[in-house]
Amino acid sequence: MSFSAGVKEELLRTQPEKTCCMLSEISAYTQSIASLRLAGGGRIKVVYETENAALAKRIFLLLKKRLEITATLSFARYPRLGGRRACLLTVNEQDSRHLLVSLRMIREEEGGDVFKGVPRAAMTRRCCRSAFLRAAFLGAGAMTNPEKGYRLEFVSSESRADILTGILEKSGLSCHTTDRRGSRIVYIKKGDDVVGCLALMGAHQALMEMENIRINRDSRNLANRATNCDQANLNKQLSAGAKQAAAITAYSLKHSLAGLPKDLQELGRLRMLNPDVSLTELGGMLSTPVGKSGVNHKMRKLMNLITEETDENEGEKE
Ligand SMILES: [Zn+2]
Repeated sequence: MSFSAGVKEELLRTQPEKTCCMLSEISAYTQSIASLRLAGGGRIKVVYETENAALAKRIFLLLKKRLEITATLSFARYPRLGGRRACLLTVNEQDSRHLLVSLRMIREEEGGDVFKGVPRAAMTRRCCRSAFLRAAFLGAGAMTNPEKGYRLEFVSSESRADILTGILEKSGLSCHTTDRRGSRIVYIKKGDDVVGCLALMGAHQALMEMENIRINRDSRNLANRATNCDQANLNKQLSAGAKQAAAITAYSLKHSLAGLPKDLQELGRLRMLNPDVSLTELGGMLSTPVGKSGVNHKMRKLMNLITEETDENEGEKE
């Protein structure tokens, strides 16, 4: 089972309790997986559609319990679902009006336009925001396995995305939007905010799982960073040695090393032959081995002599 499916399974086990939260939950389903179908005479039928039978059952029970609406269950097979079965919950015309007024999606007075509203509590109460997000995720949410990256998203529409964004921001979770195949996607990509959203939705088991993965990932990252650091030092060492070897070679071709003090000649030759070894190792190769600071001093002296010479030559050319 995908991580996403696991989160949904866990969310389906939560029990809607307060009546305020029930309305927020119904509101989120109506926004994410319902279509409003014209039924003649300007009347509207609300139809919920999902492949998840457990979700269809949950919506059916919520409508019944909170609004005394009995929806009709039917099934459809669509080629676009690869022949998989979708559950349809159809609310009759009269109940649809009652439903949409309760959800503040149409105005009380007859002939009012459909507008994008949510029950006030979905915005103002934490318990209701939590119920709204849970339902939005069950209806049209997905989450990347945290082993691969941190991302939790809701498929929404251009006109509804700002409601979701508002609820997420009000809950202190930063989110972004992008467009994909005619839908607007609202997504969270910061690890802390994904965890925050799981907590708010009540997916505590998924949250623990994600935190475990995060701890492992972070310690792996630390180890990788340490390795990269060693590699960087090594590269620095290699390139310094290679640079010295190149400078000494260039100098010796032009002037020969014979004019330099004996100890520096020896060091220069050793460096040309061993561009990859560290200075300390080089110091150990000398006929009279010297330590780290000794060889450092000698190399600096050698490089100074060589570059002075080069600089003078360059000066002459001008
Ligand atoms: Zn509530």
